[in-house]
Amino acid sequence: MVGGGPAGGAAATVLAAGGAGVVVVERSCYDGFRVGETLPPDVRLPLERLGAWDRFEAGGHLPSPGIISAWGSPEPYANDFILNPYGCGWRVDRNRFDAMLAAGAEEAGAVVLSGSPVEACRRVAGGWEVTVAGSVLTAGHVVNATGRSSTFGRSLGGRRVVYDRLVALVGFASSAPADRRALIEATAEGWWYSAPLPDGRLVLAFQTDAGPGLRARWPEFLAAARVTAARAAGAVAAGEVRVVPAGTSRAEPVAGDGWLAVGDAAAAHDPLAGLGIHWALESGIAAAEAVLAGSAGVEAYATDAARRFDRYLATRVDYYRAEDRWPDAPFWRRRR
Ligand SMILES: Cc1cc2nc3c(=O)[nH]c(=O)nc-3n(C[C@H](O)[C@H](O)[C@H](O)COP(=O)(O)OP(=O)(O)OC[C@H]3O[C@@H](n4cnc5c(N)ncnc54)[C@H](O)[C@@H]3O)c2cc1C
Repeated sequence: MVGGGPAGGAAATVLAAGGAGVVVVERSCYDGFRVGETLPPDVRLPLERLGAWDRFEAGGHLPSPGIISAWGSPEPYANDFILNPYGCGWRVDRNRFDAMLAAGAEEAGAVVLSGSPVEACRRVAGGWEVTVAGSVLTAGHVVNATGRSSTFGRSLGGRRVVYDRLVALVGFASSAPADRRALIEATAEGWWYSAPLPDGRLVLAFQTDAGPGLRARWPEFLAAARVTAARAAGAVAAGEVRVVPAGTSRAEPVAGDGWLAVGDAAAAHDPLAGLGIHWALESGIAAAEAVLAGSAGVEAYATDAARRFDRYLATRVDYYRAEDRWPDAPFWRRRR
């Protein structure tokens, strides 16, 4: 397993519980920069499948009662989870969340090597050679769980199909409003996401198309978003803003001889869809079950992944069409 994020942790847990010998090789020590995402209420289903629900509930993540949107209109409207059969959504501490899944994989019998970047994957007779910090591991199968960067996609045999150049400018305000709901707000040049985090801060992310000088324009982008600016109480200096890729892309194909891709490495979605971690868990579980079932299982996994991605592309167009206040602005024109 190359990569020990949500997709890698989920796949490793199911594979190891199914009797496969699994090594998860993860570059980080689960202590680096993470955005702090919102999980939908039905994330409970894959977490229960992994036997991780009780641990998740006790993990100090922040219940999220719903989402406020200023989308298609300057006036915000609420989409609360109050009637959802799975209860509230969640705002996660990503390092803790990913480490919890890795610990679950270890308990199921996987070996987790954190702080270990994979340097190369090479096809050899009967499998793969995976180079980690100068040492070589051999494996019959490689699962690419390296996220949106899909670091080894090409060495394994796939190519990346890229649909847009969306990036997110991410900053943190030192304090968050009492209202725990996430807020989405559209502006002429992109859209804002902001949400209180379990550690008391507020994460702010502006999604726009890649281009020069974006970080310096942070105050200008924020000033254009009335509702977001009002809740960003603690100042965020432009120098502290990070720019991270956030576009739509997918692996083509999703699986091949002795390898498959899961999570963002298989299909990376626009954050607007709120699908990322749920998909990472579900695809990790489905891919592991497919490997345990043999080649017919892997083929079915690839077909299902392609079908789900097509459905997502159609929904993405609908979401962006629902905002029509700036018909001539390049950001919105590119998405219709
Ligand atoms: C701005 C933004 C906001 C988002 N908001 C949300 C949200 O609110 N809700 C939601 O569900 N999703 C959201 N997402 C998407 C979500 O973050 C991803 O979909 C999710 O993290 C994918 O999980 P993954 O396991 O596939 O990949 P990742 O989480 O990227 O994990 C990949 C892992 O592989 C490791 N790795 C990479 N290369 C190597 C290597 N060479 N050797 C060893 N290890 C390696 C990395 O260290 C990492 O731990 C957002 C994304 C962005 C950019």
